[in-house]
Amino acid sequence: MLAQVLMFALASPAGAYSLKTNTEGDALRWLKIPVSYQINPTNRSGLDETEVESLIHGAFDQWQAVTKVPLSFDYQGETDVSAPSYTDNANVVYFENNWPDDWDSGFLALTFTWSVDYGEIIAFDMAINESFDWTTSGQKGKHDLYNAVTHEVGHAVGMGHSDVLDATMFADSQTGDTAKRSLSEDDAQGLRYLYTGIVAEQRWSCATGGAPSSSFFGFLAVAGTIGLRRRRFESEG
Ligand SMILES: [Zn+2]
Repeated sequence: MLAQVLMFALASPAGAYSLKTNTEGDALRWLKIPVSYQINPTNRSGLDETEVESLIHGAFDQWQAVTKVPLSFDYQGETDVSAPSYTDNANVVYFENNWPDDWDSGFLALTFTWSVDYGEIIAFDMAINESFDWTTSGQKGKHDLYNAVTHEVGHAVGMGHSDVLDATMFADSQTGDTAKRSLSEDDAQGLRYLYTGIVAEQRWSCATGGAPSSSFFGFLAVAGTIGLRRRRFESEG
């Protein structure tokens, strides 16, 4: 089974991520960038609030660091908000000590996004399930917060799950797992496609004999991102 999965991943390195869509099939993504977020670091898991904040920033930075993607975040400070809502004008990461019965109790965390009919995400909130044991340092037997939040930020920006075992967006995570703290190439490709429409960057280099230093020719495909977004917005609106 493991070998099959690996073979699939190797055979189609660009096709393993998935994107969230609405019922019309429009990909869900932010059009208003930077995306703001706030943190409610209050927790009963015994985690240091300063550490919590710094690793949550790190999780957002992972996605912001993907090259050639016009996605960025704007931290707007701490908040007391501790419930998911799109009307509170706050995109919040918070700890949920009293996980509701109608949320799957097996979820380590749950990210809500709200989008309008043409797929623009207008709000998100992220609840971290305090029924589980959390660590900020990858401690064995506990779930690593940085690991989980990096995965959830992927959902907050429109990414679905990936079949690639080492992808941040792979759906499952065990205690002690820290591999999802940093993105895999599969995650980066998914984000790039979602925000630029570019599937893969192509470079062709041609060298003929005799003068290799002067015969290099490179072509770089660059995304027309602003135009893409504006067209999409106007055609739907
Ligand atoms: Zn997930």
